[in-house]
Formats: sequence, C-alpha cells, structure tokens
Amino acid sequence: MVERSAFRYPQGMAGKPPSELLDAAAPVAGDNLFGLSRQQLTSVMLGFSQPVYRAGQLLDAMYRQRVASLDEITVLPRALREQMAKSGWRISPPKISAAFRSSDGTERYLVACPDGPDGQTVETVWMPGGDGGEIGDGSADSDSTGSAYEADGEFGDGSTAADEPAKKAASARPAQRATICVSSQIGCAVNCQFCLTAQLGLQRNLTAGEIAGQVIAVLERHSVVVGRDRINLVFMGMGEPFLNYEPFMAAVRLLVEEAGLPESRMTVSTSGIVPGILRFAQEPVRPHLAISMNAPNDRLREEIMPVTRKWKIDDVLRAAAALRLRPREYVTFEYVLLGGVNDRQEEAEELARLARRSGLPVKVNLIAWNPGPGIAYASPQPGNVEAFQRRLIERGVPAFIRRPRGRDIYAACGQLKRTLE
Ligand code: SF4
Repeated sequence: MVERSAFRYPQGMAGKPPSELLDAAAPVAGDNLFGLSRQQLTSVMLGFSQPVYRAGQLLDAMYRQRVASLDEITVLPRALREQMAKSGWRISPPKISAAFRSSDGTERYLVACPDGPDGQTVETVWMPGGDGGEIGDGSADSDSTGSAYEADGEFGDGSTAADEPAKKAASARPAQRATICVSSQIGCAVNCQFCLTAQLGLQRNLTAGEIAGQVIAVLERHSVVVGRDRINLVFMGMGEPFLNYEPFMAAVRLLVEEAGLPESRMTVSTSGIVPGILRFAQEPVRPHLAISMNAPNDRLREEIMPVTRKWKIDDVLRAAAALRLRPREYVTFEYVLLGGVNDRQEEAEELARLARRSGLPVKVNLIAWNPGPGIAYASPQPGNVEAFQRRLIERGVPAFIRRPRGRDIYAACGQLKRTLE
C-alpha cells in the first residue's frame, strides 16, 4: 500500500487517485525500465514506496545522461537500486553492435534490440552535416546556422564513451548537425517494390524503448549535446511507423519530453496508412508528416506500392488534411525516381497537379532510386532528376533533391536490409 505522505503526482496526473496510476498498464514484475513511460515508471516507484520524483530521476538518467545500467544512477539510494535489481528491474537500452562508415561520412549501425527473445538487430543511420533543407519539415531544417560536422575521431569499435572528459570535450567543440534515420519495425510488411527492406517481410514490431533507444545510442556515440547540436530525426528507416503506432508514438513522447529533442526537427514518413494518419492528426505532440508518394496517380502507384489497392491517393490526402498544421509547416511528398517508370516530365506535371489538388502546403523530396540486389528497377538517367525538379518548381511546387547518402554501405533510402558489408 502506498503511503499518502510519500505520494507526489506526476505531470498531467494531478487529482488522479494513486490506484489509477497503478492501474495504467504498469509492469508488475521486474522488466526493462528503458522504454517505459513516465506514468509506468511512477507506478514502479510507487510499488517500492518511493516518491514520484524518483520516476523523473530515472528518466533523466536514461534519456539525458544516457546511462546503461541501474548501478550508474547514483542519485537513487543504493538500497533501492539493490531492491529493484533483486526484483528483476534493469536498464537495457539498445546497443550498437556493428557500424559501417561511408566515404561520405554517413554511418550505418546494426542496433541490438533488447526486448525480443530473438537477439535481432535493426538499422539506424547517422547522416552528418546539414541536409540543405530537404528532409521535409519545412521549418527548422533549411536554416544555415550552426557549424559543419566534425568527425570525432576513431570509428568502428562500437564503444559508447560516457565518461566526463569526453562530455567536456564534446561541449568544447563546435556544434554538430546531423540527421538520424530511425527504424520502427524489423523488416516491413508493406512491400514497396523498390525497397530492400520489403524483402525481409515483417519480422516483428519494435517496442517504444527499441525505437527511442536507437536515437539515444547514436546520440551517445557522437557525444551529442542536446539543445546545442542540431539533430533532425527522420522515422524513415526499416518499417512502417503507422503499422506500429502505439510504440512509435510512445517513443516520440520519450524523445521529446524526456530526451529534450524538439518535435519540430522530427519527420515521420508513411506509405499512406489512412487510419494511422487520422490518429496522428489528433496528437498534441507529433513530428512532421511525410507521405511516401512515388507516383502521381493510383494506377502507377499500385504497381510500385501495392498498399495503394487498400488506400487510394485521395483517401491518403483527405486523411492528411485532418492535420492541424503549424505555421510554415509543410506536408512532404517523398518521391523515389525510378528510371523509365515514374521520372518523366508528364509525371512531374501530374504530380504538380496532385499537389495543388490536395489543398495542402506540399513540398516534394526527390530521391534518385538506390540500386539493390534482386530489384529490377533502374536509376534515373543523369539529368532527369534535375529536370523533374525544375518542372515542379515551374509549376509552383517546392521541390528538393535529396543527396543519396551512404550508398556504398547500404545506408541510403530503401537499402536497409541489415547487410553485413
Ligand atoms: S519503403 Fe518503407 S513502407 Fe515501403 S516496404 Fe520499404 S520500409 Fe516498408
């Protein structure tokens, strides 16, 4: 029984009886604390007759200080840590198990997922430097302030230096800019015909901790100082985030509310899962929305993206119209150009008409298709990507060309398949 005197309400829960807090899907037996919400951690702490602020201390340690074990949280009394460990509670964030570095500075990681029985890995990508405003949120990315990325030395050992001298050195060097591409599932069921991840099929959904933890592992690897370094997050790695909706949004909340990363620098891409978009439109805290469009009409889109049989382009756009957009916020159309398939001037014209018809403030990200083994598409001819972009701009649609990043290490868009080379 929780003593009243020990009880303090967590944020947003004032007035609720403690019993209600304890009911809220709280894990009862020992488990991984990493990935639990503030409310769930509060329940755990109440279970140990601890004041509610202990949940805040745990969150601060896991997401700001980025500790990797209960033992490191010295702000918690030793006796409590021992008691928790005895009950089976642990902190097991995802860890980088392999890393590959591209000649362009991009790094692709295999991240070990701690919450499944399978020991599987998922892929996360670090793309240093500014992105030229092309990632799609239409707000903070196109600014040109901040210093260029500086590589921070030796690479490839999977270490996650957390020592104080390293942190001091990090805050002494110029601010870094980078984009982290995050996965939401292992594999994917959507079966876009141009995508290597699709070949894996869906293996399993990631938990909130496994999604947020990819980001925390990469921030730690690069000694990122949150609030000073300019980090964009794109939920565009393996998987369809809106088919793993709850854990994906729980991860977003952890990253915004506990790690301190601004939602204005986050973008989620969907293949067009209408119920997910409608739900997303109601979220008080949410990233920007990108739609993986890839064709200007249903006929062509069905060929490339079979999901179009279920949700037509107009259904997707109607759902996106439910978003309450912030000032200067765009909805992005991601458009992978496949040579001879969807990269002609007539498709550019039709896409411009579609963007206007949508009634949404649309910007288009153009991505030249990245070749992958076993996929029978061709990259667009040199010059076609620029011509496509020019036509969109002439028709009044903002369009950006995304530089292919990390092609040589299979880190580029649509190439994530846990390749071990
Ligand atoms: S492009 Fe995205 S949604 Fe489509 S199969 Fe690949 S990972 Fe899944």
